[in-house]
Amino acid sequence: MERLLVEVHGTVQGVGFRPYVYSLATALGLRGFAQNRGAHLFIDVEGEPDALRAFVQTVAAKPPTHAVVDEVTSCPVSPAGWQIFSIAASQDTQTDVQVSPDLATCEACLRELFDPADRRYRYPFITCSQCGPRYTIVTGVPYDRPNTTMRAFVMCEECRCEYEDPADRRFHAQPIACPTCGPVLKFQRAGRATVDGAEALDLAARALLAGEIVAVKGLGGYHLACDATDGAAVGRLRKRKGRDAKPFAVMARSAFARLPEALSALASPAAPIVLVERHALRLPVAETVAPDCPTLGVMRPYTPLHHLLLDATSRPLVMTSGNISDEPIACDDTDAWRRLGSIADAFLFHDRPIQSRCDDSVVRIVAGAATPLRRSRGYAPAPLQLAEEAPSPVLAVGGHLKNTFCIHAGKHVWMSAHIGDLSSAAAYVSLGESIARAATFLHVTPEVLAHDLHPGYLSTRLAEHYPVDRRIAVQHHHAHVLSCAAEHGLTGPVLGVVFDGSGLGSDGSIWGGEFLLADGPGFRRLAHLSCVPLAGGEAAVREPWRVAAAHLVAARHERMLEALERRIGRSRFRPVRRIVEGLVAAPRTSSVGRLFDAVASIAGVRDVAAFEGQAAMQLEAIASAGRRYEFAVNRSGMPWTIDPTPLVGAVAEDTLAGVDTGAISGGFHDALATVVADVAAGLADMAGVRHVALTGGVFQNARLTTAAVDALSRRGVVPLVHRRVPCNDGGLALGQAVAAARVLRHEQLREEQTACA
Ligand code: ZN
Ligand code: ZN
Ligand code: FE
Repeated sequence: MERLLVEVHGTVQGVGFRPYVYSLATALGLRGFAQNRGAHLFIDVEGEPDALRAFVQTVAAKPPTHAVVDEVTSCPVSPAGWQIFSIAASQDTQTDVQVSPDLATCEACLRELFDPADRRYRYPFITCSQCGPRYTIVTGVPYDRPNTTMRAFVMCEECRCEYEDPADRRFHAQPIACPTCGPVLKFQRAGRATVDGAEALDLAARALLAGEIVAVKGLGGYHLACDATDGAAVGRLRKRKGRDAKPFAVMARSAFARLPEALSALASPAAPIVLVERHALRLPVAETVAPDCPTLGVMRPYTPLHHLLLDATSRPLVMTSGNISDEPIACDDTDAWRRLGSIADAFLFHDRPIQSRCDDSVVRIVAGAATPLRRSRGYAPAPLQLAEEAPSPVLAVGGHLKNTFCIHAGKHVWMSAHIGDLSSAAAYVSLGESIARAATFLHVTPEVLAHDLHPGYLSTRLAEHYPVDRRIAVQHHHAHVLSCAAEHGLTGPVLGVVFDGSGLGSDGSIWGGEFLLADGPGFRRLAHLSCVPLAGGEAAVREPWRVAAAHLVAARHERMLEALERRIGRSRFRPVRRIVEGLVAAPRTSSVGRLFDAVASIAGVRDVAAFEGQAAMQLEAIASAGRRYEFAVNRSGMPWTIDPTPLVGAVAEDTLAGVDTGAISGGFHDALATVVADVAAGLADMAGVRHVALTGGVFQNARLTTAAVDALSRRGVVPLVHRRVPCNDGGLALGQAVAAARVLRHEQLREEQTACA
């Protein structure tokens, strides 16, 4: 007989780990107990040596489906003579806490939901130890019922039995509830009485089928829902929400995509919105759901309430964030009524409070696998395990758009849920609150703050006021490179190809087409796209023709400039032309995001965009087998420059000659992928590195990324594509944190060296 003290670290709470350990230990004839201690699971277990060995091996190698085991340690001690195996009450040791992300309704719960004989038949809050709300209902640690928003609901006798029975699949399922004791569904129209229960669902379904807009309370906030097949209803939603063109996400029950990678992303427990090419979809939705957009964002129902709603309406529903334009999603009931009252005709809600706001996540299939475009519900707050360590806790506050922040302590990084565009006051406030909450949850006091170099970002402003002694500014594109490198566990030098819309460069110009060698705490700019003058900051983003004019002037293509002037009108065009000709001072940019805009405008695809990236999205959508274009690369002196003028000239010629825009776009994508591979392979060879990170928002483009990955692989370098955090600014905080940690380690090392000498 032997006895072991076992510790299991990782995401091991709220994922059914203790019942799993209980049945495993019992099956092996072992005795002792399991207990949540702070963030980890502690197991005191004794029995036959073979059985103990098998036990520890199985825990490490085959944990429950949603658990993430970082480390299992075991230590032999003298036997205690335990008689049975039991589950002990949790102990909060105030260290390194890991709360599980929210999990989509599991198969077993779904079967019960639609089983008339089950006591939870059609109950909208059915959950078990494998599914349901987690992060969004947690109010404190450890993850136990009193530390969730379920604490107000007193378990009935039957629920308590299930909760306390280690053999039951609801053993210690903290959100456990039933129609007798749990939350109640409610439906209400302004000025009318609230209707409860089954009738509430019925009224909501009828409202949706009648073309009305219903605000639906979900896991991490409210959605605005309407019938996705009803063009008029979708149009009304657009108008009331103040959203002209941005695509809406759709929730649907049945398999819609023919792509296996998309299907597996849809079916994952995170249940994100998956962007799927329209041609690969069999889903009848109104054109207004995603006008002029090549992809449609689809997700499956991920709460029992969603399943019931889709069952009752039998059609795909638009499910868009419950907010006005770019404000944070509404999650508090009173706040939802106030903000969504003028948009929604009715509310479908319930009395289980949402503690933490959490938007739907968005993923896309890029180069053969899923890549996150927004990492939020279903992923946050699961930590990333890094290969390098932060000497003291770092808070990185992220970018200005698509903001997320992160806390880096030890080898762990906790990325926040999506905060969004900080231009809105509400988002800025939400950032500050979320940081405070995360620090409390994790029992971490950040000592060092990492922020972007740009003084105008509101995240940078917040950084100035945050009470720390040390602030480290990280160049935008350097952060992008380290973000990609860190998620792949690379600690050595990496060449990063960073293509995005804009970021402040260390020379004061606006970067966005960069080849950076990241090494240790610093980086070197080895190549970039040639700069053009930017006529108007935000205006240039909304009006791609302005950048087209700049690139046409650089390419000296007078005929196309004349054609553009005719399209835009002389009075608007002339002042811009003076700027891009250098007659008026203007910032200069090497942005590849803006080059996409320029090509889209020159080819006649779009002169004005409703949101950043719209022109690029459309260009990608129409790309077909292409024309052949070329960039010129100037390799004399460092940094190398990549000159797009030959390509711009050829695109202009083809457009004037009436060549198909799809072929032009295809040629542009191919040329860009080729120049990425040529330049990166040359620089990697020169610098003696093997890994090339493809990062920055432009690499959301699946066609470009796939082609660049192929071309790079053929040249013998190893391309890295984001798989865990977004390549856009939603992943920026991770790179900032890693950069700051590197600076700190570097300083530590120098101090040690000085001390030795
Ligand atoms: Zn379940
Ligand atoms: Zn109950
Ligand atoms: Fe960026």
